[in-house]
Amino acid sequence: MLTLLNLLKDGRFHSGQALGSALGVSRSAVWKQLQQLEAELGLSIHKVRGRGYQLAAPLTLLEPAEVRGAMPSCDWPVLVFDSIDSTNAEALRAIERREAAPFVVLAERQMAGRGRRGRKWVSPFAENIYYSLVLRIDGGMRQLEGLSLVVGLAVMQVLREFGIPGAGLKWPNDVLVGQKKIAGILLELVGDPADVCHVVLGVGINVNMQMSDEVDQQWTSMRLQAGKAFDRNHLVAELCAMLQKYLERHQAGGFPAIQAEWEQNHLWQGRAVSLIAGANQIDGEVLGIDSQGALRLKVSGVEKVFSGGELSLRLRNDS
Ligand code: ATP
Repeated sequence: MLTLLNLLKDGRFHSGQALGSALGVSRSAVWKQLQQLEAELGLSIHKVRGRGYQLAAPLTLLEPAEVRGAMPSCDWPVLVFDSIDSTNAEALRAIERREAAPFVVLAERQMAGRGRRGRKWVSPFAENIYYSLVLRIDGGMRQLEGLSLVVGLAVMQVLREFGIPGAGLKWPNDVLVGQKKIAGILLELVGDPADVCHVVLGVGINVNMQMSDEVDQQWTSMRLQAGKAFDRNHLVAELCAMLQKYLERHQAGGFPAIQAEWEQNHLWQGRAVSLIAGANQIDGEVLGIDSQGALRLKVSGVEKVFSGGELSLRLRNDS
């Protein structure tokens, strides 16, 4: 099916006969595969009598060689999957297989893309970036401090570099434009953080997605913001380079070296918020973050500090 997609991806017309002979199958087999492409990958294919078949829009697929060619300063191996449960899940399996880190896992789509606390990350075929970078951390809790915030900052900088100036951060690790989510981050850790461990830095960026009935909160994409489509291979290369740069800074100076820059880009600085922890809600005003990336809130006139993966921030209606 993907061989057929490769033939069609230029967005031009291809006759059933030409497609059949390229694939070595009959025209009716081509027809079946075309229906499969539409049903399984959600692609729209035009059929015009006398001209053949054409994808509704040309498609650029992820190409490891293109990604690698565009990131000369970075030698992380890049694995690309057409379809996978989740790039983080595959990264965790690769760690179990003892693949040497660092490396990157990418997919054209995720069937079970994940967010925090078991939530779903909507991941349609060939539209967005679903990316996991695996790092090995040797005996350095300090290297984990504020790491998910560092990843958010790197993602935000990539978006700005590609012409999305409104991209900003929401504690702990969302990237938003205004109130709309454009990227999500999920870190997963295996091993002993005090000794040797591996961390998977999962990043989902909405790149060319224009429609989704599935995302149940306000969202946007680079394309919706900029009014044009983006080359995902180029973006992935830039994401690798930016992560490399920020991870080096973090490794050298710890999170304190990043803290001020993160705060400057926090969209909800000074805002009235509710912090949700399970069934509990704490209302306060955002003061900023501390040197470990924890949230500083003014609650009833007193500064309090909050950290942990189970916390969510919401703007209060009166904010
Ligand atoms: P927080 O708890 O920090 O507010 P969140 O509710 O945004 O975060 P995450 O775990 O970061 O949760 O991300 C999962 C959520 O993101 C989903 O529950 C869904 O509402 C939303 N979501 C899922 N897919 C996408 C997507 N492609 N683009 C934007 N948002 C998405």
